[in-house]
Amino acid sequence: MFKSIYPFNGETVAEYQSYSPAQVEARLARAAQAYTALQQTTLEQRCNWMRATAQHLKDKATAYGTLITREMGKTLKEAKAEVNKCADSALFYADHAAEMLEPRIITTGARASYVHYEPKGTILAIMPWNFPFWQVFRFAIPNLLAGNTGVLKHASNVSGCALALEAIFREGGFPEHTFQALLVSSDHIAPIIADARIQGVTLTGSTPAGRSVGALAGKYIKKSVLELGGSDPFIVLRDADLDKAAATAVQGRMQNAGQSCIAAKRWIVEAPVVEAFTAKVKTILAQKVQGDPFHEQTDIGPMARPDLAEGLKKQMDQTIAAGAHLDMGGAVNGCNFTPALLTGVHPGMVAFSEETFGPLAVITAAATEQEAIALANDSQFGLGASLWTQDFEKARHLATKIQSGSVFVNTLMRSDARVPFGGIKESGYGRELSLEGMHEFLNVKTVWIE
Ligand code: NAP
Repeated sequence: MFKSIYPFNGETVAEYQSYSPAQVEARLARAAQAYTALQQTTLEQRCNWMRATAQHLKDKATAYGTLITREMGKTLKEAKAEVNKCADSALFYADHAAEMLEPRIITTGARASYVHYEPKGTILAIMPWNFPFWQVFRFAIPNLLAGNTGVLKHASNVSGCALALEAIFREGGFPEHTFQALLVSSDHIAPIIADARIQGVTLTGSTPAGRSVGALAGKYIKKSVLELGGSDPFIVLRDADLDKAAATAVQGRMQNAGQSCIAAKRWIVEAPVVEAFTAKVKTILAQKVQGDPFHEQTDIGPMARPDLAEGLKKQMDQTIAAGAHLDMGGAVNGCNFTPALLTGVHPGMVAFSEETFGPLAVITAAATEQEAIALANDSQFGLGASLWTQDFEKARHLATKIQSGSVFVNTLMRSDARVPFGGIKESGYGRELSLEGMHEFLNVKTVWIE
């Protein structure tokens, strides 16, 4: 049984019966049939269905946004923005799929030699609750366009979103069973990964979940993509535009109540500007409105589950016990965690060395630019980074020194369908979005004709 609970007040939204092994079997069989049927369709048809899916999302953004807010607590304005981002990304891919799937000709001296991109079958997606629509869409859009079918094991607290997502692709015109939800718990995932009809698995979630799913995928020789945790540095150098940096740091850390893999989790600030930066972020944080996620003026909603708020509080308390200073916030009431700021945070302290998944900002001072980069790289994670300097050449140089899958300079680290997204180190492997995301679950087939 899966229960969806409205985090703001603990009210039960709905309960869902988990699928029996027979129900899972029926869905895997239908996914395989749908895959065969999908091969009879043209890319143009699939692009048109994707465009219709995007239009449906835009038409129903408030309804789907409400479902998201009820199940995981982000503000309604954030939830609607998420739905619209899915729609815009669907349109981007519909416009570019043909060029992304175009055979790549390679000159070899043969009569013809080229790479042909072909779908593989049904791909299993295991997804988290924090962006319950966007995480799923960024997998599903390129895969359905390329001709794969998808089955989704969504996080246990967002089953309503999982079922809505299944219906949304049908609404767009995709044939029945092209994309299906599987309401199963994570301890029932092994036989699904082992099943011969599953041709690959993508997981977005925590590093422990990635370790487990990656091991299973390896055991059964299935291609996997792992989009895992992060502890992204937000590096502010002495020549940064401090007003812009401070506003973006708060946005990057506090959006989605701090529950984003690419949140600005470690603010690393060069010593000459640390005082000024701290004063600016405190002013901005003090103006943030926390409360009912359905209210238009609310900036920060509740966290998704009370155990997550408790876990964050424990990380904060351990960091304070190790010598950090709590400048503001940090009160916990159910899922509501008052946005907090810790200063004097150093490597070895919990909030520096572990991922913190909630509205907790930390500041670490760096004596020099080199030390700032060394601190940024002092992490088992390597997802994204935000770097602030007005020196263009310095930015280009330092971007090569930061150990991460992306570096965004003088702006917010974010996912965008036009550029690849993914991590290194324990943040995972493989890429989503852009051309790289389109090719992950395709057979890159070499054809050589003498
Ligand atoms: P999570 O607990 O790892 O859950 C993610 C998904 O994996 C859920 O569907 C969960 O199912 C499933 N799962 C958990 N353990 C599993 C296992 N051993 N085998 C198979 N499936 C398993 O993560 P979360 O709390 O939902 O999300 C937060 C984490 O995701 C953070 O670490 C965050 O940084 C990361 N994340 C990464 C990205 C990225 O793109 N790199 C994006 C968003 C979030 P149940 O709900 O049933 O347990």
